[in-house]
Amino acid sequence: MTSATVHSQTSETKPQTGSYLDTLSSSELFGYGVIGLCTLSRPILNLAIKIFPFTPLWMIKLLVYKNYCGGDTIPDVMKTGERLSQRGIRNMMVSYTVEACDGKKMSVSIDTIINETKKSVTDLLVPHTVRMIKEVGVDHINEVPPGYVALKPTGLIENAANILLHYKEPAYQARFKQLYDTCVDIIAECESANAALLKQYPTRKAPFICAIVDAERNDLQQAVYKLQRDLYARFNKEESVVVGTMQMYLKESSPNLLKEDEYARKGGYKIGWKLVRGAYIHSEPDRGVIQDTKSDTDANYNSGIKNTLANMCSKSPTVGHLVVASHNADTQRMASDLLDKITDPGVKANVVQAQLLGMGDNITYYLIKHRNAKNLIKYVPWGPPLETKEYLLRRLQENGDAVRADSGWPLVKGVVKSLFRKVF
Ligand SMILES: Cc1cc2nc3c(=O)[nH]c(=O)nc-3n(C[C@H](O)[C@H](O)[C@H](O)COP(=O)(O)OP(=O)(O)OC[C@H]3O[C@@H](n4cnc5c(N)ncnc54)[C@H](O)[C@@H]3O)c2cc1C
Repeated sequence: MTSATVHSQTSETKPQTGSYLDTLSSSELFGYGVIGLCTLSRPILNLAIKIFPFTPLWMIKLLVYKNYCGGDTIPDVMKTGERLSQRGIRNMMVSYTVEACDGKKMSVSIDTIINETKKSVTDLLVPHTVRMIKEVGVDHINEVPPGYVALKPTGLIENAANILLHYKEPAYQARFKQLYDTCVDIIAECESANAALLKQYPTRKAPFICAIVDAERNDLQQAVYKLQRDLYARFNKEESVVVGTMQMYLKESSPNLLKEDEYARKGGYKIGWKLVRGAYIHSEPDRGVIQDTKSDTDANYNSGIKNTLANMCSKSPTVGHLVVASHNADTQRMASDLLDKITDPGVKANVVQAQLLGMGDNITYYLIKHRNAKNLIKYVPWGPPLETKEYLLRRLQENGDAVRADSGWPLVKGVVKSLFRKVF
């Protein structure tokens, strides 16, 4: 496919939400019923956000936890992976979720976070991916997306925000190097798993396991770009094992994509991108860094996808892997249209569509049922319940738009109808 084809018009097919609720378990449906009630109106959602921190953990676990979190332990997340695979979602982007950014007290140590993150590669993503390959059969091996381990820089070192803010200053350089070394240790697990699995399955065209660097609030991002660039240079000589993130709501994002392209060309390595719109709009103190309007963000995001796919399909690509991480129906429809035109199986295997667990389930359903999407994953946070509660609150605050787009009365009614169908 040429870049001209990538830039050509997309089809007008509209996503149909269909009966995506029928694919969920009764307890997940119950959780969505609760979300529907919390999102009946903006004031009700604001009230839910306000009382959320005071809601006892047992109640959260009973009501909505399973909808958004993979579990407390690796065996729990393994079961979540099985549940997702029954819906046609064959892999996960797992994130041991701890919000350690500003040096606040955590319920686990940094060493535990690092060890659990490594174990999530060896004891979770590798066996799950192998299981999925066995399920689809080796002839369809490239229809199993990679398993991703998310590296959230602010969760991997004490006092992370300060280190990231001052990473160029001599007093902080050793700590920044320590953060880099920690990431290297975790990615080395992915690299050796990929090497072993490739011997077993030589027809595979994408990494089996990728490490993905999450994007943070804007003032920390310059350091995160540097970190992900150093990791590309170290690990991505052959393929994009390391995937970075670009937040397309930032005005600097499109020039940044071009700049990173130039660095990769000079450095002789491959880039991997997870393109997101960006989750920190509500807490960003400098509104000037963000696109002026939502439609500017949408246009910038969509052109980021088109340009990245064109790069991947070109004669000398610098981008080796792309994750289209969005709940936006128009964006995912456009990405599917473009993917349909790609004939190179190596490129096809390296483009993955993604949503957060518990969000955009109608989009996920549309992609599976109506667009025959195979390379599709869910971002699955997991870890100590106290910390995942913080994650849930962030999701409610930051993704209020996504929550409301498919919620309120329509969701409550849909849940009741679906539960009724299950019983009778
Ligand atoms: C798999 C996955 C991984 C993710 N990882 C990250 C990550 O590492 N870092 C991160 O920051 N986010 C991450 N996100 C969240 C993401 O950035 C978005 O917040 C979320 O997906 C909602 O955007 P959307 O593309 O689904 O589309 P929509 O719901 O259509 O768009 C909502 C988004 O549009 C933008 N927006 C809204 N109003 C305006 C406005 N007035 N002006 C300009 N822009 C506006 C904001 O970015 C907002 O979040 C991830 C999402 C997914 C699905």
